[in-house]
Amino acid sequence: MREFRTLFGLAAAAALLAGSAQAAPAKSAPWTVRREQVAAEARFLASDALQGRGSATRDEAIAAAYVASQFESLGLTPAPGQAGFFQTAKVIKPRLQGEAKVRIDGVEVAGAQLLIGPMGDVGGKAVVFAADDVMTMPAADVVISTSKASPLVVGQTAMSKQVKLLILKESFLTKGLYAAQGGTDMASYLEGQPQGVRTAVATLPAEAFERLAAHPGASVELKLPPMTQETATTTNVIGYLKGRDPKAGTLLISAHLDHLGVRPNGTIMHGANDDASGVVAVIELARAFTGGKPPKRSILFIGYGSEEIGKYGSTWFAAHPAVPLADIVANIEFEMIGQQDPKLPKGALFLTGSERSTLWAALKAHGAPVTADSDPAQHYFERSDNWPLAQAGVVAHTIAGWTTTPTYHQASDTFESLDLPFMTGAIQSMVAPLRWLADSDFRPVWAAGGRPPP
Ligand SMILES: [Zn+2]
Repeated sequence: MREFRTLFGLAAAAALLAGSAQAAPAKSAPWTVRREQVAAEARFLASDALQGRGSATRDEAIAAAYVASQFESLGLTPAPGQAGFFQTAKVIKPRLQGEAKVRIDGVEVAGAQLLIGPMGDVGGKAVVFAADDVMTMPAADVVISTSKASPLVVGQTAMSKQVKLLILKESFLTKGLYAAQGGTDMASYLEGQPQGVRTAVATLPAEAFERLAAHPGASVELKLPPMTQETATTTNVIGYLKGRDPKAGTLLISAHLDHLGVRPNGTIMHGANDDASGVVAVIELARAFTGGKPPKRSILFIGYGSEEIGKYGSTWFAAHPAVPLADIVANIEFEMIGQQDPKLPKGALFLTGSERSTLWAALKAHGAPVTADSDPAQHYFERSDNWPLAQAGVVAHTIAGWTTTPTYHQASDTFESLDLPFMTGAIQSMVAPLRWLADSDFRPVWAAGGRPPP
């Protein structure tokens, strides 16, 4: 990162020289993001004390309270019309009281495991999907996938295609997921929000799977055991910086507070990169923006709850926004900026869905080191809190340092795994471009075909 810091120093020196040569009014000094501050905030959020900030838990609420106290100390206020810094929503977490059963042509299959539960019993005629290109998956009710693509990508695609039941062959990976998640508690939903189709994912032992894959058209049913319901509260923290011009619109800078909590075996999933790093970016950008003259546009700084179990905090916010959605000029979510993809040039960051709007080019033109989406086929644009806002029409993207880092959703995502010089530089590199956006009249718009269907 030394190279990047040197470049930044040269740019600052050049700006100062240009200023003095023209005898222009003194510009405020460039803001410096301090590594000590970045480290301190990340270390607290990713500490054992916060127990992995499980979605819709007290630990998530403590993270929200911490961020609110930072916001208040910086001089942010609650958003207009909000009583305080918090916005809460109810999450319903059904628990299966027993094992789900899979039946093929009426006969129960031994050894089936439910990885992701549906809202109720599902079934239909088996359609076999064998291609490597997941985008060619048929939008059938029941898909038996023999594709060589990663099961995670196959699952994501099945969800986007509204498949009701996806059946995979049992593997080392699926057994690990089942052991980690218990197969009993994944069908949570947000109270009061319409629920789209939820794709259930089940695995079959190899022999039963091969038999089914050889018989497309077989009738497949997934039967759930009795369920109980727990209600939990998820917390968003929302800070507001009032701009100079009420008609200029509002920027939304966000990240998610929550991570995966504690595994049934007691392992704390610290989520330092995912997404304590993004929350640190939100706090440090709030610090940068409150450290100088107020921007022309107002800015909302948000830490969302319950991203990991279905983007519930951002979904709730998009349905109950603190300012009218039409006033939100752009949203940038910060996700996993604590490590850099080694394939990127030094200091560069990914912008998910980069081709979908005019924001990417504008940010680049104003010095943001943002490159194209690392891999649109992975649907990163749809996989973070920018997505519910984008579905509601707001030009909304996510910035990340490395989308497929080896620590992704692993116990190794700890404070020690963070690259603090890169992370500090990443936040620093966005200060001036976002300052430009906050002071400008530029309104990004969707590119043709870029706006997601509502
Ligand atoms: Zn995340």
